[in-house]
Amino acid sequence: MTSFEGLIRAVPDFPKPGVIFRDITPLLADGAAFARCIDAMAEPWQGHAVQAVCGVESRGFIFASALAQKLGAGFIPLRKPGKLPPPVMHADYQLEYGTDRLEARADTVRQGERVLLVDDVLATGGTLGAARDLLGQLGADLVGASVVIELLALQGRKLWPDNIPLHTLLHY
Ligand code: 5GP
Repeated sequence: MTSFEGLIRAVPDFPKPGVIFRDITPLLADGAAFARCIDAMAEPWQGHAVQAVCGVESRGFIFASALAQKLGAGFIPLRKPGKLPPPVMHADYQLEYGTDRLEARADTVRQGERVLLVDDVLATGGTLGAARDLLGQLGADLVGASVVIELLALQGRKLWPDNIPLHTLLHY
């Protein structure tokens, strides 16, 4: 067990019955543990010439911006629909009921820029897949993805291509 795993709170039946929600807020509130988490996330990407770290709204922003500082890279936000002024590009993904969308400013990535994608949780993999699509449309060179928590039963990793590194820290 990592030194910060005990700070992930399991909340049964949230946001709906039968779901165990993994709450990261106790980890964020502990400065030393949060720093160790960011160190552990950064470690596999040191020496990979990451130029920008891309975070998925909203909890992905927290980890991605800290990681960007750690890696000496810039930060790119992928946002929920309607938050960014035009021109924007988008990628849609499936939810249990309906679809959702991620948007990014069309000029936010330089062509061939080396980007690391970050989110807090990998569940079904839809969010991370849409983020990957969008970064592709924007012309990024995707170095890999880093996620704090992987929910193994939901098999989100199956949607992720084998040839792009995907690093996850904690597994439930
Ligand atoms: P997916 O698209 O892989 O099904 O879901 C991943 C997204 O849902 C992530 O952006 C994440 O923030 C959110 N998410 C899903 N389950 C949880 C959870 O148990 N805890 C937290 N903190 N976020 C979750």
